[in-house]
Order: sequence, then structure tokens, then C-alpha cells
Amino acid sequence: MQDHDRDKLHKLVENHKSDGKAADVLNESNLKREMAHSMDDSNEGAEKDLEGIKIHCMGEFEEGAEKNLEEAKLPAGNKMIGPSISFSLSDIKKEYKNATLPAHWKVFDTVIFREKEDGLHASSKIAAFDFDGCLANTSMKRVGADQWSLQHKSIPEKLQRLYDDGYKLVIFTNESNIERWKNKRQQAVDSKVGRLDNFIECVKAPIQVFIACGLGKGKGIPDDPYRKPNPGMWWLMAQHFNSGIKIDMDQSFYVGDAAGRENDHSDADIEFAKAIGLKFHVPEEYFGF
Ligand SMILES: [Mg+2]
Repeated sequence: MQDHDRDKLHKLVENHKSDGKAADVLNESNLKREMAHSMDDSNEGAEKDLEGIKIHCMGEFEEGAEKNLEEAKLPAGNKMIGPSISFSLSDIKKEYKNATLPAHWKVFDTVIFREKEDGLHASSKIAAFDFDGCLANTSMKRVGADQWSLQHKSIPEKLQRLYDDGYKLVIFTNESNIERWKNKRQQAVDSKVGRLDNFIECVKAPIQVFIACGLGKGKGIPDDPYRKPNPGMWWLMAQHFNSGIKIDMDQSFYVGDAAGRENDHSDADIEFAKAIGLKFHVPEEYFGF
């Protein structure tokens, strides 16, 4: 890490501490990009520092994954802004456990996210979507970045129109395979992030993406606060990935296929929306046949 990056990081952390709120995400994002670039330059110092960060973070995660998850349970908070999620630059990793990610994807806790990209603007209006079975037709039996198709033909046009109307587009998706396929984790990651990258390229609109990799409550496994129906991914976005802009809940909405209907595999999407207080639509209703 170069000296000026270290200074910026220091300032960022100090700002974060002093006001107790999220640092300006636009600046934070730029800083992250700058830092990533300086690290990518791979001078020896940068590599060494990066290794240091990685070992520290991985060590923490591997030693007490269960404990961390337990601690990650979000405390009760203000209903409008949700429970406060502590977040700083040093929490961000470039790998999910032993799986590597493309440069524009990063990890926070049990969430893999696609970083801010050109054209993606923070907004008070959020158009949020589930991915599998909502935007993309996928199957548990098929694996691979190209193993998907548009769930509805109208999706690219609708998303482009929302973007033109000033909405920020956000995908909130659960992906338990990344955690469960311990011996094929890289394959699970490549498949999921590859599909999302290809989808975004196809619809030609900038989209922010959050992937919840944690598992639901099970034998000896605590409930992951970011896995839908838990609302943690939303609060993470609202508090730290929207440049501090307050979200207009009247104009924002969420679309998902898990609505607890007779043939639905679950009610995770509708319960996610309810927990946040977001308007909810099923994909057929929103995108039409
Ligand atoms: Mg779905």
C-alpha cells in the first residue's frame, strides 16, 4: 500500500469513527478503487500489506466462523434505518473463504457484493430484485456462468426505463451453494458471479448486487442475518452503499418469486420485503408474461 493510500485510509477510518455513521460511500468507493489499483500494480509493499490484511481477516473468519455469525446477528434498531451495521474498509476482503473473485467483486462478512460501477448512482428510489426465478431462469441442476436465460422478455427494457427514471437497480440474492460446496466453492462462486455479470451485460443497465452466502438456521448453524428472509442485505445497502441518501420507501419496491404461494419454494422474498417495509411484487405481475 502506498503512503498516500495509507493516509486516505487512515482519514476514512477516523471519519467513520468520529461521526459514527457511514463514510461517504462515493468517496469510499473511489478510495477502494484507487487502493485496488495501487494493489494491482503489485509493487512489493502493496502485495505484502495485502497479504497481511488477508491473513488477518481469513484467520478471524476461519477460527470462529460460527462465533462470528452469532455476533453478526443484527441488534434491534430504528425501523426506518434498521439495525446499525458496523462497516469499515478493513472489513472488505477480496476472497470468499478459499475462493477468488473477479476484481470488481468484493466480500463483506458473509456477503459477496459487486462494487460500484460507472453509471451506477446512489438514489432515494430503489428498484430491488431477487435474481433466480425472477430476473434469470436458472436451475439447481445446471452450473456455469452461461447457464441462465431471461425470466421475462421485457426485463431489459423495464430495467433500462427504471434506470432512466432515476432508480438505482439492486439485486439481493441468496446463494447457499457457495457455503455448502466446500470442495467446489470456486465453481459455485464462478457460476453465480458469472451469471450475474453476464445478466448485467445483457440488460445494459448498471446494477448493484449483494449475494448472501450464509446459511439459514440449521443443526448447530445460527441463522445468517444477511440471508433472506432476514433483511441484513438491505440494511447493508441502505447504510453503507447508497452515499448516505435516505431511501424513499413509497417509491422503492422489491420483486421476487418466493412469495409463499402454493407452488413457491419458499416465502423468503415476501418476508424480506415485509421485514423492511418495502412494497412487494411477484415477477409475473411486474414484468408480465
Ligand atoms: Mg428466486
